[in-house]
Amino acid sequence: MSALLKNDLAKPYQTVARGKGVWLWDTEGRDYIDGSSGAMTANIGHGVEEIADAMAAQAREVAFAFTAQFTNAPAEELARRLTALAPGDLDHVFFVNSGSEASEHAMRLALQVWRERGRPGKTRFISRQRSYHGMTMGALSMSGHDGRRGDFGDYLHAFPEVPPAYAFRSDWGDLPEEEQGAVAVAEWETAILAAGGADKVAAVIAEPIVGAAGGALVPPPGYFTALREICDRHDVLLIADEVITGMGRTGSWFASGFEGIVPDILNTAKGLSAGYTPMGAVILRAPLVETIRQGSGLAPYGHTFSGNPLSAAICLAVLDYMETHDVLGNVAARAAEMEAGLKALQQRYAHVADVRGRGLLWGFEFVMDRQGKTPPPAEFNATGTFVDLCWEEGLVVYPAGIKPLNNACLISPPLVITADELTELLTRMDRA
Ligand code: PLP
Repeated sequence: MSALLKNDLAKPYQTVARGKGVWLWDTEGRDYIDGSSGAMTANIGHGVEEIADAMAAQAREVAFAFTAQFTNAPAEELARRLTALAPGDLDHVFFVNSGSEASEHAMRLALQVWRERGRPGKTRFISRQRSYHGMTMGALSMSGHDGRRGDFGDYLHAFPEVPPAYAFRSDWGDLPEEEQGAVAVAEWETAILAAGGADKVAAVIAEPIVGAAGGALVPPPGYFTALREICDRHDVLLIADEVITGMGRTGSWFASGFEGIVPDILNTAKGLSAGYTPMGAVILRAPLVETIRQGSGLAPYGHTFSGNPLSAAICLAVLDYMETHDVLGNVAARAAEMEAGLKALQQRYAHVADVRGRGLLWGFEFVMDRQGKTPPPAEFNATGTFVDLCWEEGLVVYPAGIKPLNNACLISPPLVITADELTELLTRMDRA
């Protein structure tokens, strides 16, 4: 019997043996296309030699030095390069080790900034239904993910109140596209006012494109511009959770920049290290850092491994790889093929609806009938069944449905996938 406590204690998991590019092999020699980059993480694919070399070289120099005692060159350089890629004046970085820690740290920073601005009463966070910001208790408090909130209810804030920007299942979805953004965003303002408005609300948090809790829900144009305006009007910070959408997944370095808006805090993780080490980053706008500089001068809430030189060197090597191999160029080329391929499958199968996404983050959902958009009965678990069928075909995809709509699926292969590999992915999916 295994001593490792796994997600599902009853499930006989295959053991992964090795990976190369978009491919994974188990110990029995079966191959799988990693159609979800694990959890939207392995962005440059598996087994990249350059990363292994960078890892070994840094480990020989110095793997760990505590950031309260030393700074280190890889972390300094990584912060410099990330802030150059981030939109606007997002010009300081705090490193953490996961997306959940990034959510926690963004909360702490928002509370600290308001405290140091003499407004300690601003303590409320507003978030959306069908959102996911992490499993730690603060992050889970903000997450509109029924399944993962599970039995922890007593320890969490009230369920996030703002409806998702979910055109397929919203009454504004039939409006002309240019009118949708303003209507879809209105509930944020309602929620901010209901929570006490400018006096009480510290920040709102949103994923530019909802990933794990919805299956690539892309907001209508103008949505984030309008949300930025609402936040400014009510003196509320805007936290963009780019743990999935950051680092090239949606075709540019960060999805926040699509509408030219600058969030106050931008979180990223997953693709930052592309899975080669645990790493996350909280990127802050200049005025927030200035508040702290002129106030306490301290941002002391780090974790033991925050910004360790080994992880930072690995992330630098990932960034180098992405730039040298024009990975964003590949995302642009493959995105169009992915959209066409998924829409062709939708044409063939009446139970597939609302193919949606951007870059290499795509989703769709299962319905009983496209007209009525009726989801399959919950007891059937369409998503789980499909994920299992894909597995049998040697394709890994990610279940992104949450109760009571457990019917969505995410396709998010490594950003280095070739045209032939994408064709093979779609063929295996078709068979499933
Ligand atoms: N934020 C978003 C948008 C996520 O998708 C996730 C994980 O899926 C997290 C935060 C939490 O990240 P982690 O699992 O690295 O703690």
